[in-house]
Amino acid sequence: MSPTNTTSTTKTDELNRYLFEGMHARGELVQLSQTYQAIINKHNYPLGVRLLLGELLAATCLLTATLKFEGEITVQLQGNGPIGYMSVNGDNNQQMRGIAKIVDAEAAQEATSLQALIGKGNMIITVKPSQGDAYQGIVALDQPTLAQCFTHYFDVSAQIPTQVWLFSNDEKQQVAGCLVQLLPDGDGSVENKNKQQSDFEHLAQLTNTIKAKEIFTLDAQTLLYRLYHQEKVSLFEPQTVHYHCGCSSDKCLTAISQIKADEINDLLAEQGKVSMTCEYCLTTYDFFPDDLKSFTSKQTH
Ligand SMILES: [Zn+2]
Repeated sequence: MSPTNTTSTTKTDELNRYLFEGMHARGELVQLSQTYQAIINKHNYPLGVRLLLGELLAATCLLTATLKFEGEITVQLQGNGPIGYMSVNGDNNQQMRGIAKIVDAEAAQEATSLQALIGKGNMIITVKPSQGDAYQGIVALDQPTLAQCFTHYFDVSAQIPTQVWLFSNDEKQQVAGCLVQLLPDGDGSVENKNKQQSDFEHLAQLTNTIKAKEIFTLDAQTLLYRLYHQEKVSLFEPQTVHYHCGCSSDKCLTAISQIKADEINDLLAEQGKVSMTCEYCLTTYDFFPDDLKSFTSKQTH
């Protein structure tokens, strides 16, 4: 549990993106330990929840890496199972945070599969560009694994052939994932489409040979060589993945400004302060009468 184990934690959390030359296809690989540990270590989640949250983290990194603009993505799993919801939020700088809300602690202890944890439910993907309107995609969580649900999401929402692989290791507190995706090819001829489809199947087959042990121990270059040594792969500069909770005293004040002045006064009279705790990182922000006076008299922005 301690971050002093240098053998597994000296490696930076990294996201790699690459192109398969001559194939109109791209790939991504993410390998995480510190970010994952930061998300789970403050919470006392049972094993199945930790593993699924790890997979969701890796998948959200892969998804945010497909953003072509500044912004953030939140992926939420919601259902009628022992987990009320599970959510990971990340931005184009790969700053990630995540949370699981357990509604039935006893059932959550036993549950390991996606189905047992979430029950019947949906995956809701919210994309918020820094400029412009947010949009949402929803798919049913009706596949056996989270990786298959993501693959299905790409099928129905983006209709770009994409496959996702996810890995989660509790003992080492590591998570990882990869993605293979076709790129739109301007041509659009049947011949081209057939070639792309067969390229995609070929790459998916190669990626299927990946083993958990490899993705958790090998660096990106070695791993990609092992998987795709017959192909020409060009790697972009890796991106570092960080844990970052975007909560702040200012954001709490904005939330408090939505509460009626009477209610704020009641809270102050009862407790002498208004407290808010971030559910992601469990930081508590306290506001005293003086802090609240300044914003009740004028609009915050
Ligand atoms: Zn926070």
